[in-house]
Amino acid sequence: MIRILPPEIVAQIAAGEVVSRPASVVKELVENSIDAGAREIRIEVADGGRRLMRVADDGCGIPAAEVELAFQRHATSKLASAEDLLRITTLGFRGEALASIAAVSRVTCATRAAWEETGTLLRLEGGEVVSRRPIGRPPGTTITVEDIFYNVPARRKFLRSSATERRHIDAWVTRYAMAYPGLRFTLVHDGREVFRSPGTGQVRDVLVAVYGVEVGSALVEVLPDGDEVIRVTGFVSPPYLHRADRGEITLFVNGRWVQDARLTYAILQAYHTLLPTGRYPLAVVMVALPPEDVDVNVHPAKAEVRFRDGEAVFRAVQRAVRRALVEEAPVPAPARRVFPFRPAPEAPPVTVRPIPSVGPVEPARPFQAPLELPEGRGEKLPPLRAIGQVGATYIVAEGPDGLYLVDQHAAHERVLYEQMMARRSEGVPSQPLLEPAAVDLPPDMAARVEEALPLLGRLGLEVELFGGNTFLVRALPAALAHASPRDVLTEVALGLTEARGSRVEEEVERAIVRRICKQGAIRAGQVLSREEMEGLLRALEKCENPRTCPHGRPTMIHISLAQLLREFGRE
Ligand code: ADP
Ligand code: MG
Repeated sequence: MIRILPPEIVAQIAAGEVVSRPASVVKELVENSIDAGAREIRIEVADGGRRLMRVADDGCGIPAAEVELAFQRHATSKLASAEDLLRITTLGFRGEALASIAAVSRVTCATRAAWEETGTLLRLEGGEVVSRRPIGRPPGTTITVEDIFYNVPARRKFLRSSATERRHIDAWVTRYAMAYPGLRFTLVHDGREVFRSPGTGQVRDVLVAVYGVEVGSALVEVLPDGDEVIRVTGFVSPPYLHRADRGEITLFVNGRWVQDARLTYAILQAYHTLLPTGRYPLAVVMVALPPEDVDVNVHPAKAEVRFRDGEAVFRAVQRAVRRALVEEAPVPAPARRVFPFRPAPEAPPVTVRPIPSVGPVEPARPFQAPLELPEGRGEKLPPLRAIGQVGATYIVAEGPDGLYLVDQHAAHERVLYEQMMARRSEGVPSQPLLEPAAVDLPPDMAARVEEALPLLGRLGLEVELFGGNTFLVRALPAALAHASPRDVLTEVALGLTEARGSRVEEEVERAIVRRICKQGAIRAGQVLSREEMEGLLRALEKCENPRTCPHGRPTMIHISLAQLLREFGRE
């Protein structure tokens, strides 16, 4: 026998599409607060939302005359005509959320429109109004939802543990905090504040609140590309930061969180070859495009959208993310010819003045030593991935824009140099020798070293005068632990000779460190494991001047994809 279902059942069936779990209530209420122009949104949850969810905002409020209406199905202030449906700029528009939530729970709505003197307190149970009275309160709206699914036992059975529901709620709140960095979100679970976004308008500040300082500040900004119709912004992880699944790829389209396999794939494509297989980036990508170019009315929970030109959006996302990864560190422009291998002409404009080479036993030769080598332009490196080693001397690496050949010795010298210089104020870590080593130096070198002993201590070199021109080396900088104490001390003396005449302590230290770090550096001809190569590349990426060794020679040669194309006649 066919019959028309009673309205309560119809309401419960419809509610099921919008309210599938506690987190969907939080999502809908927060969307309403955002649509209401709130600056501050406070979310309180008890027992993972199974007992209570409360969303309070300082938005425009609901006029006393319309409060009941707001809880009726298909009642909305956000849509007036069918044409409006083609240009949706609010998060809500279906007029279903409050009705659906009320149908399956006990709801209390306390609200006051900004221009009215008194507010309204309305209570509903299973969608029926059970009480209403005027109240005093500041403008804004507070909606409390208790005992979700109390009247739908079939659904209540499917509620997951408090912890699981909580995780879903956290995900929604942090998503909206990222998409609306100008709003202040506070999330409280069982009386404890677990999240707060600062409302500075800076997405990065929210990311720091969500992911912590280390990850938040490492993320690379995706910047919009001038006057494009499709504007892509956001933050993506540098390739060394990755996750086991796609769960941290967050997409917004016109301020709405969406799940979109194509756009997720566009982001993955931008990382092509930069990530280890089976690893995924962390990304928060916002796409903004004219509302008429996107259909948000595809899904009751509004988590899917349809684009008028999906391909264009795909390309825009892929391009913007790729560009961010490539530009994270500008790459020197390519040389005109690849062969013979030469450093790209636009490698840092280092004018290398010759460092006088002084044999340790002929210290008396007079020379004018450069105190300071000009440094590179401080261009950071793009993220590199080690592919292998050539001649046990050069690391072959791939970056976002082509091939890099890295001189392992020169690169490691650069790394050690910057690490030691950075640590010298608090003292470079040192490692005691198993047995102190006695080192003889020519007289005038010995005199210089003797004078510099306190300074050497700060550089991690524990040396004392043994008598005459003989020194006892007790400890070496940890990075040089395996070097010969004699070689290190000789280099120190040469550094001091170079810096002769300088009263600036830092210059003297620089000269010494520049010389001794080559004693600790990986040598040409040394076979490296993949971990060692990756480790060296990571350390090099952190350097201020990764493109030259401390003596001004290049640490790498870059061959861009464009050059490769040209060389292979594909241009
Ligand atoms: P929709 O958001 O699709 O319009 P809802 O059922 O979520 O539908 O809300 C119905 C109406 O109630 C909204 O259109 C809005 O006018 C009003 N409303 C709901 N929440 C708020 C709020 N926090 N502040 C002000 N008005 C609200
Ligand atoms: Mg809504």
